[in-house]
Amino acid sequence: MSFKDTLKHAGKRKQLVDVLAKKGIKNTAVLAAINKIPRHLFMDSSFEDHAYQDKAFPIGAEQTISQPYTVAFQSELLEAERGDKVLEIGTGSGYQTAVLCELGLKVYSIERQQELFKKTKLFLPKLGYRPKYLSFGDGYKGMAEFAPYKAIIVTAGAPYVPKPLLGQLEIGGRLIIPVGNDPQIMTLLIRKSATQFEKHELGEFRFVPLLEDKN
Ligand code: SAH
Repeated sequence: MSFKDTLKHAGKRKQLVDVLAKKGIKNTAVLAAINKIPRHLFMDSSFEDHAYQDKAFPIGAEQTISQPYTVAFQSELLEAERGDKVLEIGTGSGYQTAVLCELGLKVYSIERQQELFKKTKLFLPKLGYRPKYLSFGDGYKGMAEFAPYKAIIVTAGAPYVPKPLLGQLEIGGRLIIPVGNDPQIMTLLIRKSATQFEKHELGEFRFVPLLEDKN
């Protein structure tokens, strides 16, 4: 893999940021992160020329790197501040993980495909990104060891909201999760108390499925 990041890439990145801003992304820290991260390095070099289009691309193991608009939309919804603890379900290529690191968050992330887990764990530090913990496991269970989290972001389509994720949010914490089958409804759940959650539905998106372990 080549780690070349040229002025041409930077120029295309800036154009992508302009597209996202036009589509309604306002958070300047999120836009700055996307302006900085060399997305072309998170995908196969055969897609390099297309890396700064606002599109999802295959990353192997039948998975995709999410569309930049979706990454930006979910990142903005976190409303997290520097130093906050955030859990990501579906590390995948690590692109969303890198955005969370750029936002100054303490990032925990889970991936269930071993091939992607191994690859991304080695790759992120090479670009200078150091999430607190990358786990190979089942995102339906969350990561209880480090809970509670200020926010949890799910980057695959969930057939339902996994209960453990709700339980691992701090009071005031936010779960951003696409729910349903093709398309999914982007759903924001804010924990108001031990037992109460406020729910917001924020439009249709398309994700690969959050896979459930059969055992
Ligand atoms: N954030 C990633 C998105 C990858 S697509 C990126 O920007 O590249 C969704 C990811 O969720 C895939 O890598 C898939 O393997 C993973 N996934 C699916 N089901 C999962 C589960 N139950 N637990 C953890 N990860 C899961």
